[in-house]
Amino acid sequence: MKPFRPLLDLVYSRTCALCGRPLTTDEDVICRRCIDRLPFTHYDFTADHKLARVLQAKAPVYKATSLLFYSKAGLSGKLIHKLKYHHHARIGPRMADFLAPRLMSDPPGIILPVPLHPRKLRIRGYNQTEGFARRLSRHTGARFHPNALQKRRHTPSQTTKSPWERWQNVDRGFRLRAGRDWNGEHILLVDDVITTGATLAALVRMIGRAFPKARISVASIAFNLPR
Ligand SMILES: [Zn+2]
Repeated sequence: MKPFRPLLDLVYSRTCALCGRPLTTDEDVICRRCIDRLPFTHYDFTADHKLARVLQAKAPVYKATSLLFYSKAGLSGKLIHKLKYHHHARIGPRMADFLAPRLMSDPPGIILPVPLHPRKLRIRGYNQTEGFARRLSRHTGARFHPNALQKRRHTPSQTTKSPWERWQNVDRGFRLRAGRDWNGEHILLVDDVITTGATLAALVRMIGRAFPKARISVASIAFNLPR
């Protein structure tokens, strides 16, 4: 594969992942024009905004932030779709470059990406959240544990279930392998898109049961604001 790499870089890396226009030398993955059109939340890494309140209604979340407002038909929806289904895995780390400065007000010590089920991982070839989370850990100096959270088995689509059934489902769907005592740590859970927040809330409660003295925060690329 190696000899083809420069050609792949030429084709994929030097055009904007969103609009396909050629990138200038000071642009990376996404062009300036598309960046300027993205719906940034400007949420600080605090407990004092809509996302934090949505999550805190479900679980004891310490702080939260998200880079973008998600809209399926908008540019943020296109960005997530490219990241998940079109092998534009470099979008994740690039978004982390924009979000990381917000975390520096209270940097986490540990970063955990929300895992994909192994079956989905096999199909997609990568966990779209992992590159984003890994780059956040590089910027903040946090320890990165991509395998501490594991998805246990395939869970059926949640869209047709009642809220109560949904909780049971996600609660049972994950397990935690920390390997050491995380009490006293500031742990950042990282996901790609937050919609109901049910998955993250279940994970926060699960980690909280294991380590009652840990502070557990949440960050994502995008947040689907409830109506
Ligand atoms: Zn563009």
